[in-house]
Amino acid sequence: MGIILGLANGNGLCEICRVQTHATATRALKRQLGRCVDSSERGCWAASFDSSKISFLPCAVITPRKEVDVGVVLTLANKHRVPVTVRGRGTTLMGSAAPVKGGWVIDMLKLNRIRIDDEAGMAHVQAGAKTGDIHRAAEAVEWFYPPDPSSKEYCTIGGNIACNAGGMHGGKYGVTRDFVISLRGFLPTGEMVQWGTATKKYAAGFNLRDLWIGSEGMLGVVTGAVLKLVPKPVSRWTLLTAFKTETQAVDAVRALFKQRVQPAICEFLDRESVRCAESASGRPVFVGQKDRAVILLEMAGNVSEVKEDQKVLLAWARKHAMAHRAARNRDEAELLWEVRRKCSGAMFELGDAKINEDIVLPMGSYAKFISFLSKLKKTTGLPMPTFGHLADGNLHVNIMYHRDDPIESKVAEKAVLQLMETVVVMGGAISGEHGIGLAKTPFLRIQHSPAQVKAMQAVKNALDPNGILNPGKMFNIYEVWKQPRLNIHLPWDHK
Ligand SMILES: Cc1cc2nc3c(=O)[nH]c(=O)nc-3n(C[C@H](O)[C@H](O)[C@H](O)COP(=O)(O)OP(=O)(O)OC[C@H]3O[C@@H](n4cnc5c(N)ncnc54)[C@H](O)[C@@H]3O)c2cc1C
Repeated sequence: MGIILGLANGNGLCEICRVQTHATATRALKRQLGRCVDSSERGCWAASFDSSKISFLPCAVITPRKEVDVGVVLTLANKHRVPVTVRGRGTTLMGSAAPVKGGWVIDMLKLNRIRIDDEAGMAHVQAGAKTGDIHRAAEAVEWFYPPDPSSKEYCTIGGNIACNAGGMHGGKYGVTRDFVISLRGFLPTGEMVQWGTATKKYAAGFNLRDLWIGSEGMLGVVTGAVLKLVPKPVSRWTLLTAFKTETQAVDAVRALFKQRVQPAICEFLDRESVRCAESASGRPVFVGQKDRAVILLEMAGNVSEVKEDQKVLLAWARKHAMAHRAARNRDEAELLWEVRRKCSGAMFELGDAKINEDIVLPMGSYAKFISFLSKLKKTTGLPMPTFGHLADGNLHVNIMYHRDDPIESKVAEKAVLQLMETVVVMGGAISGEHGIGLAKTPFLRIQHSPAQVKAMQAVKNALDPNGILNPGKMFNIYEVWKQPRLNIHLPWDHK
């Protein structure tokens, strides 16, 4: 695959850089963009990996100061056939932002303007804007941008658009795709394009905006977007519920949805995840309720809506849950949410390696899936704490094992394959929000037929005839768990 593993620790130039044409191209780039181009060993190393922690050294990092700079980079890259990888903040867990073929990395962080159109309820943003900053800018004027990846204090809106990021609010409000009104940016060939305008209706031609959303930086570079906002909910109410088993928990949620109640958030933690959260926080998730699966619900809307929902929810909890506890105020609610946030880090007490899969399932298959998962845990003997968003079926299955144990590693590898096959048979998808990148390439063909893969490749070839933009991703099989990983702590890693 032309991977430059031995050089990934900063002990030399990337192999591709040795090719004369690429060195020539980088010199030409420096002449045109000067101070935006960094080819120092330190700068290149920092851009060589994302949250997957697998490193591939690029030969230059370009930090555009103006959107048109992106066009300059791509035009030169095409002329000299230099691979280009776009980078937001590098929080992807899938290796999608790692420059697997070396070449150039475009770092979008300096293009970060945000402007709220208070009248139209729209946010005009540049791709490098931090998602959390967009939330704050909107909420300052009583608007609300619902997509809320847990990484929102680090990741960029460009990365969210490229991965079609979701979050806890997905079930009620939707994911990034549901909030993108228009996009602008550059085709892989360096030509500037704009898909849509700042209008809520648009029927002028093919919808290439949606083709870019979720295309993982392979079909174009987003430099700016117009996002839809909704009125900020004025009232919120949080309820914690405990269930004897995971099956009872998911069955109860289905009963709730049948009552036409739409929680803004409906988070599920299985018993293994609850134990992890308890070990991390040093206190019980639910006092007096040991070893229970939990569902954490939040209702949001105007005061009377939330009051109505409260009544329905309390009646539902009395009927279906073993115990329930409502937060009396926002501070108490925050304490409950802390439980959810703490469980991931503590999983590393169960193994030093984690295969974190963000599968998504149709609601009708929840119980069947829980039964499959409990069998998988038993037959493999591996812990698989699972939590996620029950309002949209997006579950995070965390297969924990010890990397240095060859038997456990093999079992984990087989388990993940079985997981993916089962999810697809049940009518679900191998990813609900993280995308394919490198890490899910071994499973792409479980989800997609040869005709579907061929159609996707045809789109890629049409828009990127020289194959320069984020090459080596999606279609080429790459087994990340077999690769050496950097032993580093990233700002968003759990302590
Ligand atoms: C602790 C943690 C929690 C997370 N929680 C969630 C979650 O709740 N929901 C969720 O969906 N994801 C989550 N993620 C995954 C990740 O944060 C998201 O995928 C996010 O959208 C990546 O944004 P980024 O700016 O870091 O992009 P990067 O990681 O830098 O890039 C991701 C992909 O987007 C492409 N890209 C980036 N910017 C652009 C651009 N301007 N134009 C074109 N392509 C571009 C890159 O080439 C790459 O393919 C989490 C990750 C971590 C580490």
